[in-house]
Amino acid sequence: MEQAAAPDPAQAPAQRVYPVIVVGAGFAGLGMAIQLRQAGIDFLLLEKGTEIGGVWRDNNYPGCGCDVPSALYSYSFAPNPGWSRFFAQQGEIKDYTRRTAQAFGVMDRVRLQHELLAARWVGDQKLWRLHTSAGVYWAQFVVMASGPMHVPVLPPIKGLDTFTGVHFHSARWDHGYDLRGKRVAVIGSGASAIQFVPHIAPLVERLTLFQRTAPWVLPKFDPPISKRWQGIFQKYPWTQRLLRTVLYLQFELLNASLSYPALLKRIQAQGLKNIARGVKDATLRARLVPDYSIGCKRILLSNTWYRALAKPQVQVVGGVAEVQGHKVISSNGSSCEVDALIFATGFEVANPPIASRIVGLSGTTLAAQWQGSPAAYLGTMAQDCPNLFLTFGPNLYTYSSAFVILEAQFKFILSAITTARRKNIAIIAVDPARLASYNSQVQGALQTTVWNSGCSSYFLDHSGRNTTNWPWTTFTMRRRLGRFLEKHFVTETCSPPAQNIP
Ligand SMILES: Cc1cc2nc3c(=O)[nH]c(=O)nc-3n(C[C@H](O)[C@H](O)[C@H](O)COP(=O)(O)OP(=O)(O)OC[C@H]3O[C@@H](n4cnc5c(N)ncnc54)[C@H](O)[C@@H]3O)c2cc1C
Repeated sequence: MEQAAAPDPAQAPAQRVYPVIVVGAGFAGLGMAIQLRQAGIDFLLLEKGTEIGGVWRDNNYPGCGCDVPSALYSYSFAPNPGWSRFFAQQGEIKDYTRRTAQAFGVMDRVRLQHELLAARWVGDQKLWRLHTSAGVYWAQFVVMASGPMHVPVLPPIKGLDTFTGVHFHSARWDHGYDLRGKRVAVIGSGASAIQFVPHIAPLVERLTLFQRTAPWVLPKFDPPISKRWQGIFQKYPWTQRLLRTVLYLQFELLNASLSYPALLKRIQAQGLKNIARGVKDATLRARLVPDYSIGCKRILLSNTWYRALAKPQVQVVGGVAEVQGHKVISSNGSSCEVDALIFATGFEVANPPIASRIVGLSGTTLAAQWQGSPAAYLGTMAQDCPNLFLTFGPNLYTYSSAFVILEAQFKFILSAITTARRKNIAIIAVDPARLASYNSQVQGALQTTVWNSGCSSYFLDHSGRNTTNWPWTTFTMRRRLGRFLEKHFVTETCSPPAQNIP
């Protein structure tokens, strides 16, 4: 394995320059690695964890699973006929990451326990210098695949440091702590809470849900997939491809429907029926009806959430205001004594933390450039960061599978790298004027979408600007990311970069 440069430069061996270094071994980094391997381009994949798998390694709370059907929440080039349910659970998805990485032969390029600490553009070398927890690496191109949901958010709560019980975030579940018979507070009612609350509610003595805003939760069609169907998918792969296409189009239809108030109302009616099915008590029901348009925050799916909240040992209160020792106080003044606090408060999405570790052309961090309000051309290349690509960069999220977005980005990144190699291009950089005009188009188009319709969500940054969503269809996304167009970028052609750094 490559080592960091020795302190004495005279004694240090020359360091190899990789054509591409990918950071992060979740679905994005592994998928990119597979594309590079298939294109015959040498690369290294640096991962800070002790195993691959990204969110499916870190999130193992009870009931954790995907909320996009697995036939679509998987690589199109690596279908899995063996999914045991329509929406697979965490263990099965994590397994899929490992099996796929092995099947496509990329594991030998993965370096575990290599946390990227800083990536710095070295102008006179026209290369990126990557300082990691296990040494220094050099690359011509860098793909930052460090994940949009990697860093858990703990809200600043007055008095949290006085809490005398156990507390943890859903993404770092404490499996050593036995919740049976305990008084538990869950803070947040987003995608993770709706998955684990129905699992833990029957075990605990009392569960208090601190909910700031109620989510829209639609019924989940999640049957097990029989051996017979698995056999059909295996023997006739076109059947699973067809299912994938149908699901893909359904999501496109959902996205389109959110722009039409009449259709939006129909979808909301499904959500209201779901509440009525699970909750008989009128006061609780009223508390669970969201006060914003469906789609403004992430739409959730569950058949068990409302039934869990209707259990006698479960109480739904307002957002959390303060902690005093064992006591948790809600914004509406009610308080309860708890043994454990579980944060289901999501991740740093709108302002990617990795940006503070990227030092671009101007010598400042990308975070400093962005000032909490990220922007990137086609969500993939940021100003001041030549030869660096961001997976799930700003303004790419829409209601669809992450794989639809990722695979569009893979095409663009691979096309850029292969074009550079073919034409002897040393530097690919964003054209600032084009980026500015692209951004104003994105922000303009977002104004009339449901995401900008007035609720507070993780799609918006601190200033209320939407830095997360893609305002058009994924057909448009796939077309625009389908090919790298050199004329849209600032490029510099010169002698090929060094193969080794002395
Ligand atoms: C519980 C949960 C369920 C989800 N369900 C769905 C779903 O159903 N459908 C959907 O479309 N999306 C879903 N998502 C969103 C999910 O983020 C994406 O689908 C996708 O898995 C992201 O993959 P990724 O590779 O970009 O990021 P990650 O899976 O987060 O992988 C990033 C990797 O980068 C590594 N890394 C981070 N920083 C560094 C560093 N400095 N140095 C080295 N390595 C680093 C991390 O350790 C991690 O392994 C879900 C997210 C969560 C948390």
